[in-house]
Amino acid sequence: MTTVERALRLAGENPGGPVPCPVCAAGVKGANLERHLAKVHGGTAGADESRWGGPERIGSRWLLGLALVVAAAAAGFTVSSGKQDDRVVLGAIGVLAVAMIVWAAVAWGVPLFPGRLRVDGRGAVLRHSLGLGRRRLRPVDRVVLGSAWEGRPSAVSGHDASYESVDVRVGTYLQLCAGRRRITVHCRNAGVVRTTWAGWEQGRKRKRLDITLDAAEFVALQLALWELGVLAARAAGGGDGDRP
Ligand SMILES: [Zn+2]
Repeated sequence: MTTVERALRLAGENPGGPVPCPVCAAGVKGANLERHLAKVHGGTAGADESRWGGPERIGSRWLLGLALVVAAAAAGFTVSSGKQDDRVVLGAIGVLAVAMIVWAAVAWGVPLFPGRLRVDGRGAVLRHSLGLGRRRLRPVDRVVLGSAWEGRPSAVSGHDASYESVDVRVGTYLQLCAGRRRITVHCRNAGVVRTTWAGWEQGRKRKRLDITLDAAEFVALQLALWELGVLAARAAGGGDGDRP
């Protein structure tokens, strides 16, 4: 079943409630979705129903961890051999510096590592770290919803050159959970998640995000979770706004 077919089925079951448009992510009254798709989007073929791609943030954490291991090994070599080889020391410092720059850039939302997320009846799989790593949940047993944040460097204050960071709201996250394992999926402009769905838990604000999807893919993920029974359609009129 394609994402558009899923959305139309949800609209049929919930004609008075808000249904997220699978193309533009706007909240559309269920009864009007088919017309909205035809009129606004000129009718659309279904996208891939269970695989989505977007920048992930796990690869940069692995890279930083690896660089710390290299630096520790270089320090250990220098101490145990008793001779200071500048190439080893400078090399380790260079590796660590590059890893920290990459990690910080990714934490501020620079899309350096492409990730792939798949959600179907077998569970969820996030492929990360340039395809070398994968995190698997099977099956997804609950969903947590909350606000996503990024720490950004603020202007250097005064002449003491202190470096402060301010937290900036960057949209919404849906966290897929299976026991203690979790995949945190982020979207910058998520639209009507809270008013569309029931069955999720409210989560705290989070800065540790695993993958970012665009609005249409984020809707497709929600519809896939609905089909799996992890999310339920919220009855019409039961909305409490889209603010946390
Ligand atoms: Zn639309």
